Amino acid sequence: MALSLASTLVLPGGIEIPRLGLGTYRSAPGVETEHAVRTALDLGCRHIDTAALYGNEESVGAALRKSGVARDQVFVTTKLWNDDQGYDTALDALDRSLQRLGMDYVDLYLVHWPMCEHLETTWRAMEDALESGRARAIGVSNFLPQHLKALLEIAVVPPAVDQVEFHPRLQQPDLQTFLAEHDIALEAWAPLMRGRVAAIPEISGIAERLGRTPAQVTLRWILEIGLIAIPKSVHAERIAENVGVYDFELTEADHEVFAGLDTTERIGPDPNVYAW
Ligand code: NDP
Repeated sequence: MALSLASTLVLPGGIEIPRLGLGTYRSAPGVETEHAVRTALDLGCRHIDTAALYGNEESVGAALRKSGVARDQVFVTTKLWNDDQGYDTALDALDRSLQRLGMDYVDLYLVHWPMCEHLETTWRAMEDALESGRARAIGVSNFLPQHLKALLEIAVVPPAVDQVEFHPRLQQPDLQTFLAEHDIALEAWAPLMRGRVAAIPEISGIAERLGRTPAQVTLRWILEIGLIAIPKSVHAERIAENVGVYDFELTEADHEVFAGLDTTERIGPDPNVYAW
């Protein structure tokens, strides 16, 4: 079936996650986040990504309520911050996130970063959050294969999602293969390299040929290779640009160009050294 803004990926457990969502890292609490979330919802986007760390969960919840879109029509993700890893602390942190969001449940709860000393207790809390219905799906973020292997050894319920830095310069083929083999969906954070994809001449070339922007062809590429993307913007025209990727297609040659852009360059911290 052709890709559309309504396209979803079915996670283990039957939960459907929309393939394109709105990111909210560095989206200021209050008017800025409320406006961004309302804009995305008005454009038909049904997936919002936030985190306890971002300090804007209240604004995400407020925007959703004001939008008039039913709660069960929107996929909301939030994340457990590092300070709250551990069993009781993780469950308390989820309750606080739900309170700020003004919601009874999140669609996806993620462990924000791998921390080996808390892996088992934290994951038990995640599984209990799932069991109690406070999270419809549970997953991880910034987990590389070695972190996932350690987790899979102790997990009763495996993670449904791994949200990782992913963009043309950081394609992580080994991680992609590992995730595919274990039926864990890859969600791409910083899919636009925080705007820097526009500086890559090969991407600008494809964009010019198609009469699109570098951001649009990059998002289209991520969707066409079967992944989930959560680009962030607080500007209405950019949010519209980022969801407007369904009336063109890339060619096989375009895919070859994108595949050749990987330089393993990271924008964010390396999970091998950060926190683990
Ligand atoms: P993105 O690659 O989504 O880039 C966001 C930046 O690009 C913003 O500065 C935005 O500016 C700008 N931008 C957005 N759209 C366009 C466009 N069409 N043209 C040019 N510039 C554009 O990076 P993020 O780091 O925000 O990643 C996306 C989301 O992933 C986050 O918001 C967050 O939800 C999640 N994330 C998760 C992490 C994790 O550890 N799990 C870590 C980092 C992010 P402006 O807003 O001014 O328009």
